Amino acid sequence: MDRGKILVINCGSSSIKYRVYDMPGETVLAGGILEKVGEGRSFLACRGNEKTEVSAPGHEQGLKLIMKTITDEKTGVVKGPSGISAIGHRVVHGGESFSAPARITGDIIRAIEECSGLAPLHNPPNLAGIKATMALFPNIPQVACFDTSFHQTIPEHAYMYALPYELYEKFKIRRYGFHGTSHHHVARRAAELMGKDGYEANIITCHLGNGCSMAAVKEGKSVDTSMGLTPLEGLVMGTRSGDIDPAIIVYLEEKLGMPGKEINALLNRKSGLLGISGTSNDMRTIIEEAEKGNARAKLAVDIFSYRVKKYIGAYAAVLGSLDAVVFTGGIGENAPTVRKNILSGLQSLGITLDTGKNEESSNKERVITSDDSKVQVFVIPADEEACIARDTYEVCRKD
Ligand code: ADP
Repeated sequence: MDRGKILVINCGSSSIKYRVYDMPGETVLAGGILEKVGEGRSFLACRGNEKTEVSAPGHEQGLKLIMKTITDEKTGVVKGPSGISAIGHRVVHGGESFSAPARITGDIIRAIEECSGLAPLHNPPNLAGIKATMALFPNIPQVACFDTSFHQTIPEHAYMYALPYELYEKFKIRRYGFHGTSHHHVARRAAELMGKDGYEANIITCHLGNGCSMAAVKEGKSVDTSMGLTPLEGLVMGTRSGDIDPAIIVYLEEKLGMPGKEINALLNRKSGLLGISGTSNDMRTIIEEAEKGNARAKLAVDIFSYRVKKYIGAYAAVLGSLDAVVFTGGIGENAPTVRKNILSGLQSLGITLDTGKNEESSNKERVITSDDSKVQVFVIPADEEACIARDTYEVCRKD
């Protein structure tokens, strides 16, 4: 395949995001989101159009609807399903089985099913999307792109937890890491922007969105990342606690008589920025509140920034020498106050922020450090769908 149109699908439990790319130029031809799949009243919002109510009682019907929109005679971007060259799917957990995107076959589906226990909220809807598109379009090549695969290069001493070794052998308890497509993309772009081959640069990537994670990327390979067995570990997030003393869980069980499931919900849905501020999980609201003098909102921003700074220090030590730091994700790209908090006092690591450049608002790739800063700091927009389209295109081109 030298040229072609790639459909990218990101199937959540109740939503399906899609985009159509013309490859290899990566021009976006269409895109949108189908919300509340399987919830009675579903809504389809396509780029440039109003949201409309539709019927999507399940993923298969939802995908049929999306395909109908894409191939519509008047407003569609391809002539029938055969106009799509390949379909790329986001899959959250690939466990230890996948270190690269994979062309989907029966064996690959079984391997993804085996990883479902590690991501019970994410892999089953991802699989539902794959199975539905395979049934609807059996002749179109399909590719699975995993959030975990970029981190499969992390060495054993960084991915193992200091727990009884049998727990790894029996249950595969270890660090996997997530947001791999994003970390890979921004690290590669930063290396390109520095005029280096990705394999010559040591880069720390910070993906700060609703979910937040960081990666230490040495010569093009992930050597450590902040998320772990699940996306709960590491940084402070919108509603997730990130790192805590694990003994807190037992203490809460005793003090509040809370069962494990409820503690899990507390750590995943009621903690992080929301838990500390008591106001919101949205960084925009929290910054506004902090500026109005709300002390807990300010504390939330401070804890958030401090945790990122701490990981920058840790990963600088892991990498040995540092060429660049990259910010991406909704917060990383759009919150200069947070970036300033994180980077203040890091001159000893060779980072000198240019406050003017940091304040500039732009949706383009850019440098925010001064010209004489030893380490460059970049802001690079996240584009996970484009990465999936590129990976899908590459897998199909090789076949
Ligand atoms: P997701 O992880 O769901 O893809 P995003 O990458 O879109 O999320 O990031 C969402 C986060 O980005 C929210 O906390 C939101 O408040 C924050 N954000 C978006 N725009 C801004 C802004 N201008 N200033 C501060 N935070 C912002």
